Amino acid sequence: MSRLLIVSNRLPITVKSEQGKIRVSESIGGLATGLRGPHQSGESLWVGWPGEVSSHEGQRSRLEKELADLRAVPVYLTESEINRYYEAFSNGVLWPLFHYQTDLIQRDAWRHWETYREVNRHFAEVVAREYRSGDMVWVHDYQLTLVPAMLRRLIPRARIGFFLHIPFPSSEVFRILPWRSQMLEGILGADLIGFHTFSYMRHFARAILLVLGAESQGEMLTFEERKILMGVFPIGVDAAEFGRLADQESVLAKVEAVRQECGGRKMILGVDRLDYTKGLPRRMLAMDRLLEREPGLRDKVRMIQIVVPSRTRVDSYEQYRQNLDELVGRINGAHATVNSVPIHYLYRSIPQTELVALYRSADLMLVTPLRDGMNLVAKEFVASRPDEDGILMLSEFAGAAEELREAVSVNPYDIDGVATTISNSLSLPEEERRARMRVLRSRVLTYDCYHWANSFIKALETAPGVTAQPVEAQSAHARMEAMHEKLSGSDRLLLLLDYDGTLVPLASSPQLAVPDPEVKKLLQALAARPGTAVHIVSGRPAPVLESWLGGMPIGLHAEHGFWSRPEPGSPWQRNSPDDSSWKEAVLPVLEQFASWTPGSLIERKSAGLAWHYRMADPELGKAHARDLQNRIEAMLPGLAAEMVMGHKVVEVRARGIHKGMVVPSLAVAGDGDWTILAVGDDRSDEELFAALPPGSFAIHVGSGESRAGYRLPDPAAVRDFLSRLLEAEPREQPLLNSRG
Ligand code: UDP
Repeated sequence: MSRLLIVSNRLPITVKSEQGKIRVSESIGGLATGLRGPHQSGESLWVGWPGEVSSHEGQRSRLEKELADLRAVPVYLTESEINRYYEAFSNGVLWPLFHYQTDLIQRDAWRHWETYREVNRHFAEVVAREYRSGDMVWVHDYQLTLVPAMLRRLIPRARIGFFLHIPFPSSEVFRILPWRSQMLEGILGADLIGFHTFSYMRHFARAILLVLGAESQGEMLTFEERKILMGVFPIGVDAAEFGRLADQESVLAKVEAVRQECGGRKMILGVDRLDYTKGLPRRMLAMDRLLEREPGLRDKVRMIQIVVPSRTRVDSYEQYRQNLDELVGRINGAHATVNSVPIHYLYRSIPQTELVALYRSADLMLVTPLRDGMNLVAKEFVASRPDEDGILMLSEFAGAAEELREAVSVNPYDIDGVATTISNSLSLPEEERRARMRVLRSRVLTYDCYHWANSFIKALETAPGVTAQPVEAQSAHARMEAMHEKLSGSDRLLLLLDYDGTLVPLASSPQLAVPDPEVKKLLQALAARPGTAVHIVSGRPAPVLESWLGGMPIGLHAEHGFWSRPEPGSPWQRNSPDDSSWKEAVLPVLEQFASWTPGSLIERKSAGLAWHYRMADPELGKAHARDLQNRIEAMLPGLAAEMVMGHKVVEVRARGIHKGMVVPSLAVAGDGDWTILAVGDDRSDEELFAALPPGSFAIHVGSGESRAGYRLPDPAAVRDFLSRLLEAEPREQPLLNSRG
């Protein structure tokens, strides 16, 4: 039976050692509760750090026994690992960075990247050890971003999901991280990548485009020949349970007590973990501003602010706490009356029933983080209001704001605006309050934590992933090998090879893709292979090919077959008449697009003009390429030219010229009867493939559609494929060494 292996930094348990005895209890929270169902069914396992536990062997084995009963697998971490990987790197670098608080990144914590990587590897190894064929793995959050790719190497066929519980920041901010490529590649080891909101998903897609050059189409992307799905899965709360608690007698009694205490004042509530992302000082300043503007409210409102201690070992949190304490003290000093202190500030955590009683008592709930992945407090408040009353004020920078549209929305940076909105909210008519709350409740009750977990798991089960194509991949490999064998056995082998993107990787700028010594050696060796003719069929201008490869015993064909130089020393010949009159009309248009698209450039050839946008911003380049295509298409009927859309290039060239033009003369050269292999990565190579005589072979390099019967992932694989032709001897001894 297929199991789910859940992997998170912390196990959802608390381990206590009391008088030498180990006691393990389960924790609650959106993640732990949502996954409880899937965890308890089908023998699933939860892998994570159990917290600081004794290294005493006897105690450890007792702990493991207790954990095994809860299907929890411990990943033991030393104190130093926790300090570096968790406190310093995860919470001191990634947390502020992903929440846009770049000033709060702990500079001295950068150096703990290595430990972050090692701990991620440790997690991956434990998971791989537990993994059984058919299991699914679900990795959680920013502490474990490298685990998916590490697992992909250890257990290549596993179905792996990754969910990020915090925001994924704009690529402009994410790119600050020196290890941005490693982190993105780490996450891309998964088959399904989940985010709370569409914005986070878009930021991620843009980051992989800019950092790794991987393009996504909607929610799908292809990376290293694997199809990866992205998705939006907003986490919810155990809404039914909050509702049940809110209706309990004891809770209702507490609600009554809180209301009595408020003595007819409006109750404003805040519940937050102590974290600089929660916007607490600005919220307090907004209260300050409000009481300053409307002194009459001093005796009419009462704010209860619960601040739950958190990350007390991280310096910036301690500093933050002191500032907040002082600020609250100052505001209370300024606005307290003989009867009333405006802000009741509690720095401690409170039991769940008390929390629900506060939620149910509040007239106005303030949730005003500067940035928050989701914010569960907002949803818990709504779930705790079976009375369908109360107002939720929600920061537009909380993930929850993308769903909870009926909340009163605020920009938490706008202190004046927040003050005004608090004032307006307090006088919202009951009918409107209830109308808003009813819709909010239907959302929160429907999309609860169970829905979240189940929809992610369902999407992971059906994600295209590697496991979906094993048979196809295997047969593709076998077909490729059979083809290689035929080529190896041939004593009359004609190789028609594209250059850029086929023999050498695509470079950021065309002039940078100079042939390296290895590729020259390979071409030389192939040309020296008995009975083998090698031809480069490229879109590049003749002078470039001549200067790079002119001395080699191979045929060169420039500008998509407009020019040919069949063998070294022979002159370049034109294969088609020269009619360049169309250039006058086209060049100004290309120049306009080049000036609108920073980084792009125009390449001038004798029979063509090409606008390259590889170096431009990928999204802007793509959009402008589409516009340019439309412009040129409209011009073409009156011109002796045609357009080809290539790999990040729009090319206009004299009509009737294409790579396939070189095939007829080469195929019959010598006595004909060649075994032909053509290899290319681009649209223009499709014309070469189309012109091949029956029985020839064509290999397309990279992903995307092609008429070629075979496929290789990249230039490195092409080189490997071609160099293996050198290992086998052809069946018969050749008459010729190379043919032009
Ligand atoms: N919470 C808690 N102890 C308390 C008060 C609240 O554990 O004394 C819980 C609260 O119920 C909520 C969580 O802390 O589930 C806060 O989650 P949220 O998404 O709002 O913020 P995060 O802490 O994840 O940044």
